[in-house]
Amino acid sequence: MENFNDRSWDVIVIGGGAAGLSAALILARARRRVLVLDVRQPRNRFAPHMHGVLSRDGYSPLDLVADGYREVRAVDGVIANVDVIEARAVTTATGPGFEVVTDGGAVATASRLIVATGARDELPAVPGLAEQWGRGVVACPYCDGYEATGRAIGVLAGSLPGLHKAHMLRSYSSDVTVFTALAGVVPEADRLVLEDRGMRLDDRAVTRVVTDGDTITGLELADGTVAPVDVVFAEPTPVARDEQLRQLGVDRIDTPFGPWTAVDASGRTSVDGVWAVGNSANPGALVPIAAGSGAMAALTINAELVAEEVAAATERVTAGERGAAASTPDTDTDTDTDTDTMGH
Ligand SMILES: Cc1cc2nc3c(=O)[nH]c(=O)nc-3n(C[C@H](O)[C@H](O)[C@H](O)COP(=O)(O)OP(=O)(O)OC[C@H]3O[C@@H](n4cnc5c(N)ncnc54)[C@H](O)[C@@H]3O)c2cc1C
Repeated sequence: MENFNDRSWDVIVIGGGAAGLSAALILARARRRVLVLDVRQPRNRFAPHMHGVLSRDGYSPLDLVADGYREVRAVDGVIANVDVIEARAVTTATGPGFEVVTDGGAVATASRLIVATGARDELPAVPGLAEQWGRGVVACPYCDGYEATGRAIGVLAGSLPGLHKAHMLRSYSSDVTVFTALAGVVPEADRLVLEDRGMRLDDRAVTRVVTDGDTITGLELADGTVAPVDVVFAEPTPVARDEQLRQLGVDRIDTPFGPWTAVDASGRTSVDGVWAVGNSANPGALVPIAAGSGAMAALTINAELVAEEVAAATERVTAGERGAAASTPDTDTDTDTDTDTMGH
């Protein structure tokens, strides 16, 4: 069994998707000892291509992760494909820290923890949806709307607020049918607005996705008829993969998707030393947002670690190394650094 405590770590990152790898890359480049523990199952692994990601539009999500692994390892970050089953606060030789335990029983310890474990999607129980997930069945207009331009779009609304997705999709096609059975009774006013914008509503239950080979051709309805559609926009429920955050007792906030970890603008949680980034902090974060949040947490953590090093040196100097203290023009021992996270 691998013993990660053979080496000491500044930061452990749980989860190696866009958010976790982005954080790890910046921290490793800052010469921090970074360990990424990752099951390697990014949320968008079902999709052959991702979109809206600058310079990587149409790139494979799994290739993005493979590139990220290479880049982190090239600057001495360590990545292991293991499942973290537990995270707990501990007192280490150097102060407060965190211990994480893998399913194989390996343990790793660090003073800072970034949780980037993401989310998963629960699809409505309609036969055929799961098989097409990420290809003919998608969810995000920003990710896949452009590719649906001019096609027959079926919107499988799961809630009344979810009808907003139909309005977004109207930009891409004049052939949009909204299947409302899972959403409940659509108020007349909403129905009229959707129809005024040129969309059809169908209240019959969807019983099956109909395909020809691997291509969606329609949605079968409760009365046996098949409504022809080329692509289905569904409304899955995102579920946080936040077991470690809950073990650590972080505060949560209510979101339309249920309770989610509360963070500040840098991804800092209510537990000192623990950050949550990407979908762990925001279920709606697309790849660029997830990567940005990981980067922001990394800058903040590195600034904290530098401030700690400066504080320790300041203590040593003021405690006895009088020569060093005397040669320092500014004898102010306040260790607050006036720099922003970028060191400006
Ligand atoms: C079908 C689909 C298509 C999408 N298309 C797009 C698109 O075109 N453009 C776009 O910008 N966004 C798209 N998204 C959204 C995209 O998936 C997210 O923005 C992105 O995955 C968030 O990155 P993340 O790093 O937060 O989480 P993830 O990418 O999910 O990474 C989390 C990682 O943590 C690992 N992990 C979880 N728990 C543990 C544990 N206990 N121990 C170790 N490792 C663990 C997981 O295996 C995973 O590798 C799509 C989503 C879906 C579902």
